[in-house]
Amino acid sequence: MRILVVEDDPDLSRQLKTSLSDAGYAVDHAADGEEGHYLGENEPYDAVVLDLGLPKMDGVSVLEQWRRGGITTPVLILTARGAWSEKVSGFDAGADDYLTKPFHTEELLARLRALLRRAAGHSAPALSCGALRLDPRAARASVNGEPLRLTSLEYRLLHYLMMHQGRVISRTELVEHLYDQDFDRDSNTIEVFVGRLRKKIGQDRIETVRGLGYRLAPLHGEATEA
Ligand code: CA
Repeated sequence: MRILVVEDDPDLSRQLKTSLSDAGYAVDHAADGEEGHYLGENEPYDAVVLDLGLPKMDGVSVLEQWRRGGITTPVLILTARGAWSEKVSGFDAGADDYLTKPFHTEELLARLRALLRRAAGHSAPALSCGALRLDPRAARASVNGEPLRLTSLEYRLLHYLMMHQGRVISRTELVEHLYDQDFDRDSNTIEVFVGRLRKKIGQDRIETVRGLGYRLAPLHGEATEA
């Protein structure tokens, strides 16, 4: 899953980037409203953290323009303490959730997990697919209760596949949702990561759909997601 952070405070930006990466997300950052607007319009993020007080273009205008342009990405806005009217204009512009500064990183992460799972149509906090289980709260995955040792990219790949299990996902889509914009994006490397992940979770769990991409599904005889 890939997150965009639009925040002009350098310290807070750095802190957000670190905590989001540690939690297993690919993270892009924009330090002003114009850059943030551009990125949100051109890259398919899974969620956005948007500060409202921004240089060049304020957060509410950024959000209004995204929504007018048909961008449905879940957006969590960051508002200043006591500015209740900011929350109102933020929600009216199309925000899905908000946090008032200062906030605890844990709360931001929990709110993002909720936004991401609602956007993908899940209600349970942990994901399962047959004997596979992934818990975004701990950034951990297991098969039959046995913990998997995954690199951060393997975890991100499995998270995305589990969020969209049963659907065929193209290599391009995976590249767009697993890597941040600074990453050297080569869709051939996806094949390598899928190969490594298969070795860890079982060869048959990720099906290759020729010419189209990959699909994660429970094995025959395994229960589907409750
Ligand atoms: Ca600000």
